[in-house]
Amino acid sequence: MLSILIYRSRMNSQIAQGELADLVREARGANEARAVTGILLFDGVHVLQMLEGPDRAVQQVYEKIAGDPRHGHIVRLLQDYAPCRRFPQWGMRLVDLRTHPQGLTDLSLESVNAAGTGTLVGDRAYKLMQVFAAGRWRDHATESGDTGRWRFVRHAAPFPHPDVPMDASAPCQFALQPIVDTASGRISSLEALMRSPDGAPPRTCFEGLTQEERYRFDLESKAHAFELASKVGIGACKLSINLLPMSLVHVPGAVDRLAELIALHGLKPQQIMVEITEDEAISHLVAFQAAVRRLREIGISVVIDDFGAGFAGLSLLSRFQPDKLKIDRQIVSGIHADGPRQAIVRAIVGCCRSLGITTVAEGVETAEEWCWLQAAGVDLFQGFLFARPTLNGVSAVTWPEAIDAKAA
Ligand code: C2E
Ligand code: MN
Ligand code: MN
Repeated sequence: MLSILIYRSRMNSQIAQGELADLVREARGANEARAVTGILLFDGVHVLQMLEGPDRAVQQVYEKIAGDPRHGHIVRLLQDYAPCRRFPQWGMRLVDLRTHPQGLTDLSLESVNAAGTGTLVGDRAYKLMQVFAAGRWRDHATESGDTGRWRFVRHAAPFPHPDVPMDASAPCQFALQPIVDTASGRISSLEALMRSPDGAPPRTCFEGLTQEERYRFDLESKAHAFELASKVGIGACKLSINLLPMSLVHVPGAVDRLAELIALHGLKPQQIMVEITEDEAISHLVAFQAAVRRLREIGISVVIDDFGAGFAGLSLLSRFQPDKLKIDRQIVSGIHADGPRQAIVRAIVGCCRSLGITTVAEGVETAEEWCWLQAAGVDLFQGFLFARPTLNGVSAVTWPEAIDAKAA
């Protein structure tokens, strides 16, 4: 199967023209042995390379490049299949755009003639090359700073009582995980995550219950989340809880009951945020909107959880605008090297900015992911990189601190 892969990278040490030609020559032998052909565009700093060849071979060549220290900020832009090679005749052609600004136009003509494919107009691969050659890619790409500019420092436990004794009689317990604002170095909120009495994940808490019982259990369980938050001493910090939206719809007087539980533990409705997943919101939209109205009337804010994991996406945002939107972990994972995910996150951030919605990235595990996300304008972060969920308590946060280049 013929596979095509396009990536962009920044050459680390301002590689001179001669050196780059050597590099391409060096790679050519290995590429030939694997039947990988293609083209490499260079603008003096950045490279856009297209690799064409058998599936596994293309993947192997790409992995080798991704691990080559001469390439930095490598981002995979396109990976697809094709009926024939676009550039079959050249091995690996190098085009230096500084000395050959018309290079791409000439090459496309040659290519069309050689491949006999008729036209490259509208071809995604060719469009990516054109945008790169014209320098226009900078308008809609985010390049994060160097992760080397940051060090991660674990601070002291943030609240007066970070460990609370377990309540053995409770039908469930909660773990708290901080959601952080790295620009100001503040904890924006804590998310309460349900655990079974023996610490198992949330879904096990709902096993063996009927649907109606689930809704009631979900709602009543929040008493334990509020109790934990108040024992930890969260002060004015906000608290996010997860709820099946139908818990607010099917349980009679649900929102009033929630308000009662909040007050019982000395918290204020303005401190509470309710997280609802994208799929649950869209599949019960009318009932959901009614519940949201009641929540907002008493001052509770609403968060869309796992955005991008479901099927609703932007159509949900056209019908309902939450206070916050959490970008799903699957989109966040490996974002620094993934072109399509980057484009999606930039669109989400732009859309949320226009609508006044705060964005949160979930499941941030690496410094590279965080660097890219903050450069793209994501407001808040949650993930193991900063703090893990802690059962019956809250852990210290590991904060990024800029390393002063002059002092170093
Ligand atoms: P969620 O609301 O999206 O919660 C985030 C999940 O991601 C949590 O899993 C958390 O432990 C995990 N997580 C946080 N940071 C990272 C990271 O950097 N890497 C990775 N790999 N994972 C990370 P958890 O606690 O297992 O919860 C799973 C889901 O269960 C939650 O997803 C939420 O939808 C649901 N849930 C949790 N508590 C409740 C509740 O009280 N009621 C209801 N209805 N659902 C709940
Ligand atoms: Mn959540
Ligand atoms: Mn989530």
